[in-house]
Amino acid sequence: MADQKRDYYEVLGVSKSASDDELKKAYRKLAKQYHPDMNPGNAEAEAKFKEVNEAYEVLSDKDKRAKYDQFGHAGVDPNFGAGGFGGGFDMGDIDLGDIFGSFFGGGFGGQRQANPNAPKRGASLRASLTIKFAEAMAGCEKELSLHRMETCDACRGTGCAAGTTAEVCPDCRGTGQVRIQRGGGGFAFSTTAPCSKCRGTGKIIHQPCPDCRGEGQVRRQRNIKVRIPAGIDDGQTISMRGQGNGGLNGGPAGDLLVNVAVIPDRRFQRDGSNIYTEQPVSFTQAALGATLEVDTIDGKVKYDLPAGTQPGTVFRLRGKGAPSVSGRGRGDQYVTVQVQVPTNLTGQQKDALLAYAQTMGEGTPPPATPVKDFFKKKKK
Ligand SMILES: [Zn+2]
Ligand SMILES: [Zn+2]
Repeated sequence: MADQKRDYYEVLGVSKSASDDELKKAYRKLAKQYHPDMNPGNAEAEAKFKEVNEAYEVLSDKDKRAKYDQFGHAGVDPNFGAGGFGGGFDMGDIDLGDIFGSFFGGGFGGQRQANPNAPKRGASLRASLTIKFAEAMAGCEKELSLHRMETCDACRGTGCAAGTTAEVCPDCRGTGQVRIQRGGGGFAFSTTAPCSKCRGTGKIIHQPCPDCRGEGQVRRQRNIKVRIPAGIDDGQTISMRGQGNGGLNGGPAGDLLVNVAVIPDRRFQRDGSNIYTEQPVSFTQAALGATLEVDTIDGKVKYDLPAGTQPGTVFRLRGKGAPSVSGRGRGDQYVTVQVQVPTNLTGQQKDALLAYAQTMGEGTPPPATPVKDFFKKKKK
C-alpha cells in the first residue's frame, strides 16, 4: 500500500532542488485546483488534495524534507515506524482564504483577513480636461466639477449619531468574518464567509448618524482647481494627491487623476519637446533672401532667410519648442520652407520674368495665355 505512494516532489511537480518559494507556489496552485470547495463531490480531486497537502507538509518542513530525501516515504510515514510525523493532517487547518490569500493580495477571507475597521485608503477618481494648444504651452489653471465621497463631518466617519458609539459585532468579534464548517465523508474543513449580522463590517451601529445614514461618508459635489503645467502633452495625466474619495476609518484619501486632452493647432505640430511648422516664402524671398516673421509659440520672431534657399529647407529656432513640464529647458522649433510659385501675374510681372528667363538661356517662351484661360476658351 505505502510503496504505491507517489514521490512527493512528483506530486507537487517540482524538482528535488526546489526552493521553499517554488514549493509554496506549486502547493498553492495545486491546492487551489483540487480544493473540495472547487470540486464538490469529486472523490478524485479530494484524494489529490489530500496527497498534495501531505507532500507539502513534509517538504515544507526542513527536518522532514531531509529525512524524506534520505529515506523516502519510510523516513516520514508513521506506517513505516521510523521517525515519522504523528497521525494524519488536519483538514480543518486549511481553508480557502489561506490558500487564496496570496493570490489576491490578502484581505479575502481566512485568518489573514484584515480588520474591516482598519484604516483604508479611499478610491482614486478619474477625470478629464480638454485644453487649447496655447494653454498647454503656457500652462493654465482649470476648474473641474466632480462628485466624490468625503468623510462625514457630523460623525467624523464613525457612522454613529452624536454621543453614541458602535458595538463590536458579537457574532464575528469584530472581524467581519465567520467560519463555516463544511465537508463530510471523513473530511471536515472550514471556510470563511462575511458575517451576516454586521454584513462584514465587524461593528453594529445602533443609532446611525443622520447625515450619512451610518455610512461614515457623504457624496459631495466639488469644484477643484487643476494647475496644468506648461508643456503638458496630449494624453498626459496629472495626479492630484488626496483629491479622490475619502479614506475609511481614518485612512488617507485616494488621488484624483486628470487626463488632459490637447486640441491640436493647425500651425504647430508637436513631437515630444520639438515643434514643427511650415513657413511660406515667396519665390523672390527664397532667391534673394529676406527677413521673415516666423510664428512661434511665443509670438512672431525675426529670421534672416539666406539668399538661394531651396524649397523644403528646414531651419531650426533653438529653444522655441515646447517647454518641459518639469520647468527645465525647452525643445526647438523646426521650420520647413515652402516656396510659393507666383500665380495671376500682371503683364508687367510676366515681362520681368520673361526677361529673367532669357538671361538664363531659357529660349522657349511660356504660352501666351495662362493654362486656366486656355481651357476655358477651348470649352466654348
Ligand atoms: Zn459580525
Ligand atoms: Zn455621519
